[in-house]
Amino acid sequence: MPAATPAGPRLPDTAALRARAATALRRCGADLDAVTAAAGRTLPARTPLTGGLLADLAATTPAQIDAAVAAAHRTFQEWRTVPAPRRGALVKRLGALLTAHQEDLADLVTIEAGKIRSEALGEVQEMIDVCDFAVGLSRQLYGRTIAGERPGHRLSESWHPLGVVGVLSAFNFPVAVWSWNTAIALVCGDPVVWKPSELTPLTALACDALLARAAADTGAPAGVHHLLLGARDCGERLVDDPRVALVSATGSVRMGREVAPRVAARFGRCLLELGGNNAAVVTPSADPDLTVRAVVFSAAGTAGQRCTTLRRLIVHEDVADHFLTRLVHAYQQLPVGDPFDPATLVGPLIGPAARTAMSKALAAAQRAGGKLLTGGERCLADEAPEAAYLRPAIVRMPEQNGIVRTETFAPILYVLTYRTFDEALALHNDVPQGLSSSIFTRDQREAERFLAADGSDCGIANVNIGTSGAEIGGAFGGEKETGGGRESGSDAWRAYMRRATNTVNYSADLPLAQGVSFL
Ligand code: NAD
Repeated sequence: MPAATPAGPRLPDTAALRARAATALRRCGADLDAVTAAAGRTLPARTPLTGGLLADLAATTPAQIDAAVAAAHRTFQEWRTVPAPRRGALVKRLGALLTAHQEDLADLVTIEAGKIRSEALGEVQEMIDVCDFAVGLSRQLYGRTIAGERPGHRLSESWHPLGVVGVLSAFNFPVAVWSWNTAIALVCGDPVVWKPSELTPLTALACDALLARAAADTGAPAGVHHLLLGARDCGERLVDDPRVALVSATGSVRMGREVAPRVAARFGRCLLELGGNNAAVVTPSADPDLTVRAVVFSAAGTAGQRCTTLRRLIVHEDVADHFLTRLVHAYQQLPVGDPFDPATLVGPLIGPAARTAMSKALAAAQRAGGKLLTGGERCLADEAPEAAYLRPAIVRMPEQNGIVRTETFAPILYVLTYRTFDEALALHNDVPQGLSSSIFTRDQREAERFLAADGSDCGIANVNIGTSGAEIGGAFGGEKETGGGRESGSDAWRAYMRRATNTVNYSADLPLAQGVSFL
């Protein structure tokens, strides 16, 4: 039996959460009553803490979507000529407003996405950090001068604003993903049209209001940012609009399969950040204390609802039993419950569909010979029958079958064992997704091999640190079905700009490239 039962005395009720959300929104400059629908198309805003309805919002109509894209496109004509450091001033102001409203935004993230307080604050911190990064970047959008082959010629490349960026974002990072895209797109000279997850519209309203204020404060055009509230059909209209130069889409592989061909059909650009099925290899030399802590945070943190959540543990068979005993013990101490309670480490899943997906996956794993070592039980069912509080689960699997190779967006950690290092790498890479990966070892040969060309095939490969919790300074994204996109730091900005190769002839001759002779 689990040693710890649900944390906290009682869950807050839906009315209290609605009042707290309305206060946070008001502080950020948005009025919940004003955006509540009187009639027409609505978008329900719910909280996973209770499953209750917070508000019925007015959904964006198709005509309003078209008008938003048109306005963003018009603004682009002006915004692209504003010097990049001045564009950076807008993002600098946004970062200051996000800092001032960190608590309000974290409240909304907890209320809508169910994140525990420290993770909600961390998500907002990520927004602040990426604004800092983008402000610095606004003075560093460098091109290259290239050694040309012709005398009296200069060959170089320059980077120019691309156009309107359409951002589709997922529920589990309701604000950070928006900021990764928006802060960078704005300094690159691109207006943004944002379609957030239909599950997290209130956090989006708060961010939109803060950016509008930042624009007003810095004299930037209001049309640099537009918010669309709606479900998949709303996203589809944005995706199909030829005035949207780049669609940056974060979400499931299913969504990416639908979005990518539609954008390709009109020769638009796509930046895809899709699902992961992340693994960690635990070798015999792994530091046990560090590894247990890292595994618990990566696998059970955020209730298993990160794209980088650790879903597969590949443990050397000599250390597996001992390691799993410690891991199961740590799992059983995890307090599940109200994410506002500072003692809670695991909040709710996003909703009943996620609860069903977790139960079905656990049943399928056990049918395939998996042994449930801990977890999977429902918590707080009487108090919140419409919510989905579940204990994180560990299942020891006889092999890497279909269910292990599938991303179930819930806290399930599948354990596999290996004998040789090559076997561990083969298991590691034998899934369709390629986002994040880790190795726990004190053997430098193993560590370097994991990071080498024939090691992990993921976009993120770590040593002695879990799969989740990336810093904004690196480029974030993954390979294979994860979609190949890169966002946030390093040179990810290049996806938001177009490259022009420039050749200037400052001589009086006209030598042709490759020595071609003509006229
Ligand atoms: P989802 O795919 O259901 O929705 C994501 C967004 O896409 C939402 O805004 C949704 O309305 C929109 N959408 C869905 N279908 C669409 C379509 N056909 N056309 C246009 N828009 C469409 O994802 P979710 O459940 O909100 O989020 C969880 C998933 O996102 C997981 O698979 C997770 O791994 C992934 N994710 C990936 C990253 C990453 O950076 N790689 C980050 C966060 C989440």
